[in-house]
Amino acid sequence: MKKGKQIYEGKAKKVFETDDKDLYIQEFKDDATAFDATKRGTIKGKGVVNNKISAVLFTLLEKKGVKTHFVKLLSDREMLVKRLDIIPVEVTMRNIVAGGMAKMLGLEEGIALKSPVLEYHYKNDALHDPLFNDYHIRALGLATEAEMELVRKNSFKVNDVLREFFTDKGLQLVDFKLEFGRHKGQVLLGDEISPDTCRLWDKETNKKMDKDRFRRDLGQIEETYQEVLKRVEG
Ligand code: 5GP
Repeated sequence: MKKGKQIYEGKAKKVFETDDKDLYIQEFKDDATAFDATKRGTIKGKGVVNNKISAVLFTLLEKKGVKTHFVKLLSDREMLVKRLDIIPVEVTMRNIVAGGMAKMLGLEEGIALKSPVLEYHYKNDALHDPLFNDYHIRALGLATEAEMELVRKNSFKVNDVLREFFTDKGLQLVDFKLEFGRHKGQVLLGDEISPDTCRLWDKETNKKMDKDRFRRDLGQIEETYQEVLKRVEG
């Protein structure tokens, strides 16, 4: 697979064309940003960790019937993915109160939710990804009713599959963010699933094992990413 022109560089990844117009290469960087990129840094080895963890999780999800953009791993930092027309909606699934939900509703972090909470956020950094709902999505024509039905169904399925998987690895899946896109008339799960996009707390100690270590300057950042990879692959 020949790596072609770079078509996009985001905060944590670069995307390249290939000689197949339907396939892209997603390359994971060590760059870390938080709070709409007002905080910047590097987490050594993060790109490799996130590439490998995403590959394991996409493979597991495919096996469980969730269609994803993942094709195969190409190298330590690169994966081959299907080209997506990204739906500009970030889906957040929550099992335990943390982060944005704690702040918005004035709740303490760590409260176990009685049922998973699904949130939609408008994917727009300049506006800080504001919370909105399916009426906005429909009214603005960002996705069809049928597409959103698939997004919703798959998001709950991903939560079920990943919760069980991480529990097995001694980790609580607190919350995570998903992105979906269109590929040849299908809705596929895209982006990445990694400690950058999930909150993971150790089951025994509640230690934060995710990007909050960087966001909140908690230290042991590199080591924690490596530990999550070890558990995911173990
Ligand atoms: P919150 O809304 O609490 O800030 O985020 C909820 C979950 O979604 C967290 O696991 C967080 O890592 C993930 N998330 C939400 N928005 C983003 C984003 O723009 N970038 C990344 N990397 N993760 C996000």
